[in-house]
Amino acid sequence: MAKKQFKAESKRLLEMMINSIYSQKEIFLRELISNSSDAIDKIYYKALTDESLTFDQDNYYIKVVADKKARTLKITDTGIGMTKEELENNLGVIAKSGSLAFKNENEMRDGQDIIGQFGVGFYSSFMVADVVTVISRSLGSDEAYIWESKGVDGYTIKTCEKDEIGTDIILKIKDNTEDDNYDDYLESYRLKSIIKKYSDFIRYPIKMDVTEQKPKEGTENEFEDVIEEQTINSMVPIWRKNKSELTDEDYENFYAEKHYGFDKPLKHIHISVDGAVRYQSILYIPEQMPYDYYTKEFEKGLELYSSGVLIMEKCSDLLPDYFSFVKGMVDSEDLSLNISREILQHDRQLKLIAKNIKKKIKSQLLSLLRDDRENYEKFYDSFGRQLKFGVYSDFGNNKELLQDLLMFYSSTEKKLVTLEEYVSRMPENQKYIYYASGENNARIEKLPQTEVIAEKGYEILYFTDEVDEFAIKMLLKYQEKEFKSISSGDLGIEEDNVDKTDIEESDNKALFDYMKETLSGKVKDVKVSKRLKSHPVCLSSDGEVSIEMEKILKSMPD
Ligand code: ADP
Ligand code: MG
Repeated sequence: MAKKQFKAESKRLLEMMINSIYSQKEIFLRELISNSSDAIDKIYYKALTDESLTFDQDNYYIKVVADKKARTLKITDTGIGMTKEELENNLGVIAKSGSLAFKNENEMRDGQDIIGQFGVGFYSSFMVADVVTVISRSLGSDEAYIWESKGVDGYTIKTCEKDEIGTDIILKIKDNTEDDNYDDYLESYRLKSIIKKYSDFIRYPIKMDVTEQKPKEGTENEFEDVIEEQTINSMVPIWRKNKSELTDEDYENFYAEKHYGFDKPLKHIHISVDGAVRYQSILYIPEQMPYDYYTKEFEKGLELYSSGVLIMEKCSDLLPDYFSFVKGMVDSEDLSLNISREILQHDRQLKLIAKNIKKKIKSQLLSLLRDDRENYEKFYDSFGRQLKFGVYSDFGNNKELLQDLLMFYSSTEKKLVTLEEYVSRMPENQKYIYYASGENNARIEKLPQTEVIAEKGYEILYFTDEVDEFAIKMLLKYQEKEFKSISSGDLGIEEDNVDKTDIEESDNKALFDYMKETLSGKVKDVKVSKRLKSHPVCLSSDGEVSIEMEKILKSMPD
């Protein structure tokens, strides 16, 4: 039977897995168990919603069997299985191929990073195995197939026998090396602890045959080895557990297990509501922006469960766009299993949950801002723009919700500040919240108009993001204080406090005429300014639209 080749980028990843120096090789088990659990979810869901199928609870399990003599580790599941085509398509290519595309070559070579940062699923088995064999029979099929691969040089697929629907993954565990002890992955105490650590909340039993010394029947002090099938995981989903039972590490492990992000989350939010609508939810504020975050490809949404059964992977109705960075899941007993996407959109319960979640996210972001400024700034660096877009596209009442979460660089504080902080520092005679737009902070600092405001001791917010000024225009005011661009005509600074210039336009008519003529079509007018200190000239606008905004508006397609 001819060997089939892996796709190019899968090959790259495989090579990396085989030569991996990653210290946490143990995560391969988490990946395989999570695939098994996904596969059982699929068949479980089918059985619940398809009357022609009947399954009983005992039919759903995952079993891990180690054979020290043969050096094999087998992970069996009673999930939905894979057809021949699925074996080819799912295991022959990287499922989320995009995730590799954004990683640069250095990071790829490092390996450490890529494996640590996001789960690479099935391929991680090559970190611990020389040969990986997959035997699978798909629901509704009489035929079973065996897929086998020794790594980069490809894989084979043949027909084979299998009585039950489901999948067996058999790993031929590598021999020990000087640096790595692979024997560990054949030891039941070690396997047990890996399962406990990463997969405790899996809803289906993860079983193992465990050898235990038991008193021999009919004797007093004699013991014998008894092999007993045990369920290793507690099976209580993490979101059903009590917050007090859980550690930060538990939440971080869940985040990684679910592949919610490649980073360590900045904050988790665990919600348990038992009111008009009942639901549990675990939400995360990530630190890093997903590589496709500000692109059309990015899909927001939370996983949606109905009484513990996954019914939708990305329920977008649960998150407003301005919180699209939030990852996590919602489980509710009040949602029907059979609910379709269309009906769900109008579901009253779901709307209530969404509203509730929105409030929680906001209050948690505020508390992050207050109590952990450093991490809030990390968050803001990644997702601040999204919040500003949220203010700008103010269809609902996002303004009020979001304004306290905004931050801008301050001319006097030399760091990001909130609007609340700005206003609290305003001297009594200051009427407006001043801002200056520009490409970057250094450029804004050089703007002639900043001088007169700085001289008054007023603070200026620097707008370096295109959306900044648009967002502020929607906001209009913060705590009754209007925003004012420093390049606008009237700065609202009392005239007599400003150094008067003794130049009058009428005294220099020829010069002004010459300037107007030379710049004709480029500027509307040339006037004497009372707002300059050391600079001879500045540009200003007299409408609602600042020079920076004009530039953006002009560059936008009609
Ligand atoms: P992911 O789980 O993120 O999709 P993986 O590399 O872990 O990526 O798995 C690739 C695909 O292979 C899965 O999406 C699934 O379709 C299939 N698969 C893997 N393991 C199993 C299994 N035990 N039973 C059924 N399908 C599986
Ligand atoms: Mg997977």
